[in-house]
Amino acid sequence: GASATLLLDSFVERGPEGRLTTWSADAVKTGGGWRFTALKQLSSIDGLYRLTLEPAQFDIRNLTLEGTDLVLHMRSGTAHVARAAGGTTALVLRGKGELIFTPADEAERAQLRIFSGEPVLRTGFTEAFVRLNPADLAARVSDGALVARDSGADAGAHRRALAYFDQVAGKTYSLDLQDLSRERWSLVPAQGDMVAEVRTGKYGDLTYARSAGESEDISLFHRASRRNISVYASPAHLERRGRFYSEDDGREYDILDHDIDARLTPAREWIEGTARVRARVTSLAMSTMRLRLAESLVVRSIVSKEHGRLMHVRVIGQNNVIVTLPRPAQKDDLIELEVRYGGRVPSQLPDREVAAVTAQDFEPITIPPEPRWIYSNRSYWYPQAMVTDYATARLRITVPEPLDVVATGVQSGVPIAAPVAPGSAPARTFTFESGTPSRYLSLVVSRFATISSKAIGGGAPATLTVVSTPRQAARARATGEQAEKIFTYYRSLLGTAPYPKLTVVVSESELPGGHSPAYFVIVNQTLPTANVTWRADPVSFDSYPSFFLAHEIAHQWWGQAVSWKNYHEQWISEGFAQYFAALYAGEMNGPAALSGVMRQMRRWALDETGAGPIYLGYRLGHLEGDSRVFRALVYNKAAIVLHMLRRMAGDERFFAGLRRFYEQSLFEKAGTDDFRRVMEAETGLNLERFFERWIYGFGVPTIRVSHTVERNPDGTSAVVVTAQHQGPVYDLPITVEIELASGAVRQAVLVLTAAAGELRVPVEGRVRRVSVDSDSAALARFLR
Ligand SMILES: [Zn+2]
Repeated sequence: GASATLLLDSFVERGPEGRLTTWSADAVKTGGGWRFTALKQLSSIDGLYRLTLEPAQFDIRNLTLEGTDLVLHMRSGTAHVARAAGGTTALVLRGKGELIFTPADEAERAQLRIFSGEPVLRTGFTEAFVRLNPADLAARVSDGALVARDSGADAGAHRRALAYFDQVAGKTYSLDLQDLSRERWSLVPAQGDMVAEVRTGKYGDLTYARSAGESEDISLFHRASRRNISVYASPAHLERRGRFYSEDDGREYDILDHDIDARLTPAREWIEGTARVRARVTSLAMSTMRLRLAESLVVRSIVSKEHGRLMHVRVIGQNNVIVTLPRPAQKDDLIELEVRYGGRVPSQLPDREVAAVTAQDFEPITIPPEPRWIYSNRSYWYPQAMVTDYATARLRITVPEPLDVVATGVQSGVPIAAPVAPGSAPARTFTFESGTPSRYLSLVVSRFATISSKAIGGGAPATLTVVSTPRQAARARATGEQAEKIFTYYRSLLGTAPYPKLTVVVSESELPGGHSPAYFVIVNQTLPTANVTWRADPVSFDSYPSFFLAHEIAHQWWGQAVSWKNYHEQWISEGFAQYFAALYAGEMNGPAALSGVMRQMRRWALDETGAGPIYLGYRLGHLEGDSRVFRALVYNKAAIVLHMLRRMAGDERFFAGLRRFYEQSLFEKAGTDDFRRVMEAETGLNLERFFERWIYGFGVPTIRVSHTVERNPDGTSAVVVTAQHQGPVYDLPITVEIELASGAVRQAVLVLTAAAGELRVPVEGRVRRVSVDSDSAALARFLR
């Protein structure tokens, strides 16, 4: 007779405990219907608890609760608990308490100072909710701090504790089990892990977390502003994993290819998609596969070729989907999933990777910009890996007429009419193939006119296409000419271009800025009527209007083809793009243009450097809500660091090093340590202290400089320049320009790598002028 194999999901509740299991059931058809012949358990998630705050009440006696760099102290008050197997996993503390948070790292202390005015945080609190592993309770909570109340619980105290518990308990370690259970189920923290929600009087709710699974296991989060105050690796964690890490270290699989069919209704910000993901397992065994997808998008089904329909769960408050595999996949197994999903996903706001300046004085404009929707790296508009992951892709994007699409990849063929429901507006499907790996997939939807499209000779085959919103067509032609010069110049510096196609999308917006995913760049043209003052920004160069374009195009090489290992290393993208844009200024308008740009960058870098090291990445300026700090340091200071390295190493070795770094890191994520190793190998210099000071440190040297002219008996002269550090020693180049009476000008570089240095430049004839740091290349304060 007929037989079938069914996949069954079960959720079993026993008291407060829950267990989620996937079964495989074999059935055969008999005369009286179907009969099960075998039932096999495939996988399960154990240890789920429906947390309940117990009515029993404890009196607090001089309680100290400790986590790494955290102490919660409460002299007296009341406590209630919730239990899992093994004991207490949750505590509600109410009373007059004090939170003390003391990170040791200088950069973290600087962040705390920005947040609170002090390098350590010490603040009062009235309520706290702590989650921990029951086995850790004795070690974390001081002896005798919780005294069971004999005289019976106070109903009012329990009611107040419960009200707080209900507010905060769902915020951590909670699962959404979809159709299986409507209740809130919670996981027990792993041993050593802990979360403390603390209601302070001064800062509102603060969340402290220690999670061993994270590369940076300690964090302190400010709920009201939704910002991390601190994120760092504990000393124990650093010892285990070393100083450098990649966000890829913990990943369990590598996505090889995406194949996406998506229908967009931009006016409603609505997407319906079917995405096929092909991945190779990189961990030894993988029983669940975590994908990233915007929380607002509903997963309709997940099907694998091999196992049929798969179960999934979503974590509340996160853009995650956890897919349960019927049996653990082994290393190097290939997995193919088809995910059907849909829902509302808002167009991306400018974020980390977007060079958009801050408007100081924003007034409404009279002409609205052409509507435009961007779905990119911050949208999670398609199922993707938990961190960016180089993969090839095929996109079929359907939008209503008359909208157009530019997306990652090379457009294949012309858009074709798509089937639509009766009565709906006509729609077209655009297809894009990307055979060259990209980190993420992006698209922009608007009305576009094609301005030009041409092959760019003189290197690997590449096509440059320029499209623009209708109103910007006239300006877009000039933009296209600039783009070609920029593209050709960068390709000559690095010998190659990563992607066979570059589309420049000239769009309009209230603010200048841009975005540069693989295969295309979006540049915003400000509308003539936009009444916005944005010039007081680190990336606004008045005398250099093509700066944004040059910066965005550079991202095809730096940021896309070569990416960064984790957020600390974002300067590998932004600093390099910024320096390439500066180099292009010099290429087009001569050395004075480069010096002018460097001088402006230096002013910003000197002003903002106290906020922290380049290595803090996006967190610079984050707490203050001032992204100019981030741009002043991760863009500008990092560009100066590259320029200093070039002056120290000499042009030939510097650019050879850049090419080597580019080739070695192509379609990979690189870090400061990788860059240092390549530059050391190429230049023979020891650059340990150079990067230590400039990338991980945030001081600026003060240097006393002087010069004399020595006259020799034979009629020749020598210019002698001395430089002396007034504090810690930095490695840096000081450019000296000497003008002779004859009008001849020559340059020499004093490379300072010790407390003091001297440069002797023999010259013929009389010296008219000596200028120290003439090109503004050294990031230092000079005493003369
Ligand atoms: Zn950028």
